Amino acid sequence: MRRPLIAGNWKMNGTKSSAEALLSGVVSGATSVSKAEIAVCVPFPLLCLGEQLLAGSNVQLGAQNVCTESGGAYTGEVSAAMLVDFGCRYVICGHSERREYYGETDEIIAKKVSASIAAGMTPILCVGETLQQREDGLAEQVIGSQIKGVLSRIGIDAFDRLEIAYEPVWAIGTGKTASPEQAQDAHVFIRSQVADESAAIAEKIRILYGGSMKAANARELLSQADIDGGLIGGASLVADDFLVICQAG
Ligand code: PEP
Repeated sequence: MRRPLIAGNWKMNGTKSSAEALLSGVVSGATSVSKAEIAVCVPFPLLCLGEQLLAGSNVQLGAQNVCTESGGAYTGEVSAAMLVDFGCRYVICGHSERREYYGETDEIIAKKVSASIAAGMTPILCVGETLQQREDGLAEQVIGSQIKGVLSRIGIDAFDRLEIAYEPVWAIGTGKTASPEQAQDAHVFIRSQVADESAAIAEKIRILYGGSMKAANARELLSQADIDGGLIGGASLVADDFLVICQAG
């Protein structure tokens, strides 16, 4: 059995005071969540606060990006070791916003995943197609090449130490959610891509769904056999909404 993981992706949101209120709300509500594992991926400047407020709770800390390199002259970058130093357990790699706005390729994403694993974190590797690609019947081709583009560079054993998030780009922040059947089909396909290399790892790996998952639709999505959790953007910014999703996990 795969234990569900519900991870919040705060994106570029939050001040010290709003984050303090949100983290405190999540920590206190999370005490009644036992089935799902919970994480929040906060912006870099809020990691210190996150480390303090999540200490001793059942909510894990995560980051949203990491440098491919381990240290040195890379102005503006943050290494995997630094994230670990601040208590990060998870790091999002290859989010569609980073692929689209910051030119992250499979090669760069593979390096970020490797650097994160080497430092002891668990990457959440995001994949997903655009609306145009889905309408052109290319969804599986795109997702397959994103998975294989990382797998071929880092090897199947690394997939034993990461999570995958299926995030159809057309569903992120749009209010449009993939139907439970669409999401389930994509998850089965992703698992099959991993199974091409290792059936055992494919059976074990958690595949999260992300894309306008909210309190109202979480239970149905999470009840699908191959949906092992959620990566939650907008709804993770409201403690009560996020906690309803955690309870549904
Ligand atoms: C995300 O950014 O990972 C995401 C899933 O966002 P939203 O839930 O807002 O669609």
